[in-house]
Amino acid sequence: GERPDADLLEGLNPPQLAAVTYRGPALLIVAGAGSGKTRVLTHRIASLLRGREAWPSQILAITFTNKAAGEMRERVQQLIGDSAQGMWISTFHSACVRILRREAQQFGFTKNFTIYDSGDSRALIKRLVKEHEADAFGLTPAGVQSRISKLKNELADADSYARQANMSDPAERVFVELFSAYQAALQRANAFDFDDLIGQTVYLFRAFPHVADVYRKRFRHILVDEYQDTNHAQYALIHELTRPVQGSSGDSFSAGGMMIFEPETAPEVEGASLTVVGDSDQSIYAFRGADIRNITEFERDYPGAQVVLLEQNYRSTQNILSAANAVIANNFDRKDKKLWTDVGAGDAIVGFTGYSQHDEAQFVADEIEALHRASMPYSQMAVFYRTNSQSRALEEIFIRAAIPYKIMGGTKFYDRAEIKDALAYAVAVANPADELAVRRILNRPRRGIGDVTETSIARYAAEQQITFRDALANASALGVGPKIQAAIAQLDAVLAEATEIMLPASGEIAPPTAVTQGLSVLLNKSGYMDALRMSRDPQDEARLENLDELIAVTREFARNNPEGTILDFLTEVALVADADDLDDESGTVSLMTMHTAKGLEYDAVFVTGVEEDLIPHRISANEPGGPQEERRLFYVALTRARKRLHLSLAMTRAQFGEVSAAMPSRFLQEIPHDLIDWRQSPGDVNSRGGMQSRALNGRRSGGSGGGFGGSGKRYGDDLVPLPRREKTGDIAKFANRIPAKVRDNGDLELGPGDRIRHDDFGEGRVDAVTGEGAKRVAHVRFDSAGAKKLLIKIAPIVKL
Ligand code: ATP
Ligand code: MG
Repeated sequence: GERPDADLLEGLNPPQLAAVTYRGPALLIVAGAGSGKTRVLTHRIASLLRGREAWPSQILAITFTNKAAGEMRERVQQLIGDSAQGMWISTFHSACVRILRREAQQFGFTKNFTIYDSGDSRALIKRLVKEHEADAFGLTPAGVQSRISKLKNELADADSYARQANMSDPAERVFVELFSAYQAALQRANAFDFDDLIGQTVYLFRAFPHVADVYRKRFRHILVDEYQDTNHAQYALIHELTRPVQGSSGDSFSAGGMMIFEPETAPEVEGASLTVVGDSDQSIYAFRGADIRNITEFERDYPGAQVVLLEQNYRSTQNILSAANAVIANNFDRKDKKLWTDVGAGDAIVGFTGYSQHDEAQFVADEIEALHRASMPYSQMAVFYRTNSQSRALEEIFIRAAIPYKIMGGTKFYDRAEIKDALAYAVAVANPADELAVRRILNRPRRGIGDVTETSIARYAAEQQITFRDALANASALGVGPKIQAAIAQLDAVLAEATEIMLPASGEIAPPTAVTQGLSVLLNKSGYMDALRMSRDPQDEARLENLDELIAVTREFARNNPEGTILDFLTEVALVADADDLDDESGTVSLMTMHTAKGLEYDAVFVTGVEEDLIPHRISANEPGGPQEERRLFYVALTRARKRLHLSLAMTRAQFGEVSAAMPSRFLQEIPHDLIDWRQSPGDVNSRGGMQSRALNGRRSGGSGGGFGGSGKRYGDDLVPLPRREKTGDIAKFANRIPAKVRDNGDLELGPGDRIRHDDFGEGRVDAVTGEGAKRVAHVRFDSAGAKKLLIKIAPIVKL
């Protein structure tokens, strides 16, 4: 008879088929971008379920973002036409939260623990650095935070670190003190930071093998996407979960055996089947501890593993693929892969060089509008940049051009102060042990509770051996004035009222409206909303709107999770990761960093700011392997595009309040020149008739190359014509310009009163010169073009 999963295997190429139908202990799929790795995972899950080889509850699939998890779940459900309830498809962090919520009481936490995001841990570390006067040893909160994070990703704790550190160095001793104080504070607050979610789950499994066994027996098929970006802690977690389950004779509680689990008897249940997929060329998180060895040493760690290579790319046109292949070939420590496609050459890659980032943004907006007129939906377009701050110039132009857009990962809605305040109120109810949260709301809104009172509360709590939160219930014992006593008592009463709504006595179930109601009580009765309403600061109006939005989010949450508790809500909020968004982004252009773009695909992609110091980023220059990692990041960006790829840069960029000259990225030169059709090459920008007038006039009117919108051709026919300019000339010009890519006026002497002539603005008089060296700026009053600021080094000017 036919296989029950026959339809799931249709259209797969032979190695994909081999991967989907493999049955055995371990499978490694290594393959370049767009070769169907994620698709193979999805079909593999569907195939297992369809053939009743596994129950949904026996599957654990790990994706990089919650959004990717949602998509995979949907895809599986489409494929098997059945509900796949009970299947765990989630990020590492979400999976660990689920495990910890069930098991936290095993090791001194309770299930209502708080999750500290990096802002929360930074705040805690800041306080500890101050208390330990650690700045005297050159320790900064940011530095301490990132060191602790790196160590935790290596599964090190303060003790194990201290054993191999140079403890005769006082700075090291203080660091170790801070590390243990930080960990103790987290434990007291019943909180885990992001790294702990993984690391403490590993610890739990190693220390309590009988707990680990529950999950080992449960998950029979474990699948991990983007395996190249797992760090050591994540690797260890997977390793723990795929161990065989021991017979009952193994003594797993022997005192010395807390951390190491030695198999003593023959396995009763064999280890789970593990499938990992990854691409070493897309490893972009080494800076966060991702370890490429997790891929390269897979065969050693899982003897007998089957390895499958995929070489056909189903995503991009040949031109896009050729560009990406050419770029990544410059990394020296890689195995060459031969990615190919049969969809044809496709359109040329479009290049554009703007005079400024505004000009570049205008180009992007114009192209987006042209594509949209040619029937490409906005949702199929994405704009990438290396750093978050680059989005501002794009947003300004998009707003003016009425292009609907959404910033992925950067919305930072949950980072806004008023949202953090509101959530801190909710945390103070859900996890009263969380001192950080209670301290945060103590004087928000202003109640006249200052540092002195805060210290008295902390002291009283320590004396009485009660929590900071419980100390609030004894306002009269704190030795503070009557007004402050009343303010504290009022806060305590509000928290108590919300607690009754949100956390009903055991046995009772909170109604679906509990989260919304409780939060409203907290924000209204605490006076928080009133303080904003009474303010004359226009920003406070926006803050009120944001809080209304948060209330709306709780309603939405209740609709989707009728039994969801305040804890579930806070978990969801805490884990909203980079590429995640609570809203539906259909019908909008997506803006995001190159990191966030991983795993996604769009018909049209705009890679912006292709400049030295941005990509490769300046900070990468001094990191070992930094420039290579930047090249992989650029490779990730290019390979997101299905049909159209645009590469753009600006010749001057204002950052941190300074305007400076930018150079085309070295990665641009690694792309074969005949693949790029320069609408405006770096050379053009300096030649006559360049960009300045366009930048001045704002909107582009067809531009030098002419748009392709309005041609009547529909997008999707592959017929949308690209304007052809004297391409060879452009490329020659571009090639000739390297390395002297921009006009260099050297140390042109200029001072107030000098007259100059500008290629586009004509003649004018210098009012002032500011800045120094390469960053000298001339403030010029042009006879007809008005006042301008010009970067002297590169502006197309001569002194008269
Ligand atoms: P990345 O490395 O970027 O994560 P990937 O290897 O995970 O890429 P997928 O996202 O799974 O690649 O696939 C890329 C695109 O190719 C998707 O749109 C997918 O549906 C399509 N695809 C993959 N395999 C096939 C196939 N055999 N037939 C048709 N389309 C396919
Ligand atoms: Mg993928």
